[in-house]
Amino acid sequence: MDKIDFRSDTVSWPTPAMRQAMANAPIGDDVYGEDPSVNELERLAAAKVGKEAGMFVASGTMGNLTAILAHATRGDEAIIGINNHVYRSEAGAMAVLGGITPRVLPTDKFGRMDPAEVAAAVRADDPHYPHSRLICLENSYGAAAGYPIEPDYFARMRQVADENNLAIHLDGARLFNAAVALNVDARQLTDPVDSVTFCLSKGLSAPVGSVVCGSAEFIHKARRVRKSVGGSMRQAGFMAAAGIVALHEMIERLADDHDHARLLAEGLSQIPGIEVDMELVKTNMVFFSLRQDVPCTANDIAQKLGEEANIWVGGRGPRHFRAVTHYWIGEAEVALFVETLSDIMAGVV
Ligand SMILES: *Cc1c(COP(=O)(O)O)cnc(C)c1O
Repeated sequence: MDKIDFRSDTVSWPTPAMRQAMANAPIGDDVYGEDPSVNELERLAAAKVGKEAGMFVASGTMGNLTAILAHATRGDEAIIGINNHVYRSEAGAMAVLGGITPRVLPTDKFGRMDPAEVAAAVRADDPHYPHSRLICLENSYGAAAGYPIEPDYFARMRQVADENNLAIHLDGARLFNAAVALNVDARQLTDPVDSVTFCLSKGLSAPVGSVVCGSAEFIHKARRVRKSVGGSMRQAGFMAAAGIVALHEMIERLADDHDHARLLAEGLSQIPGIEVDMELVKTNMVFFSLRQDVPCTANDIAQKLGEEANIWVGGRGPRHFRAVTHYWIGEAEVALFVETLSDIMAGVV
């Protein structure tokens, strides 16, 4: 890569094996269902998460939107955590394009809603109310530094959903980070949900795309929604080919990213003036912040990291940072980050 980029795992470039696969990909018109690479990717993705069928989409946002619109319709309500990506960072798509109201609930520090509060939020069948239809979950949980939520939580939500005739959609943008960190098969996290979206373009390093998975009937509906939002692509096999490599070669190695994040967090926590909540460091993200008395802003520090070592880091407000590890970040990059920030902080505290 051309910089040492800790802003997100989305910045990761495709691997050499992916570029090779893309160049040689068998292709066809996917709107006719004739792209062999897309078909293979969708089959493989569905198998990984234990669902009948998959649908390749342009982004995680499109995956969540097409899934939600396949589950719910105008006047319906979706129960969702207050800092869930779908609610907070997808331009209000379910309301804008679907007429679906988010019913927002608080989460704990790790991104979990209280199952009893979810059950209590379900509306009575009364003409005053929207119709409760869906629960939206997320794993790993981005707003909690990518915390991997355990299978038990999803099983409990399944129970609430079944008792109240709701569907569950899981935004699993970083599903495999969660599975690898918890040392469970991804299917343990996805068996309790009706549909799941996961991203190929984040830690799995593919250049573009996500996959939505669910029952064959559900994916049939979702394909119509994808068409309606202009998301049907033609020779998408060039991109699917990178996704196939991602699913074959890039899942187990996410453990390396988690080790690197841990190493980074430990290094950062030793720097005077820097605070890290180690309890949240379980996957490939590190949230850290400037101690209250440090007389500069996160922006000042981020700028210096760029100038001094071509290191790019994400900001999360005036005193908070986010650093994310991925395929192109190794131990040397982590060490350089810690050393450079250490020098910068020595000059300000
Ligand atoms: C990145 C992300 C998305 C959206 O993916 P895009 O491909 O950027 O649209 C959705 N949910 C979570 C948790 C994410 O991290």
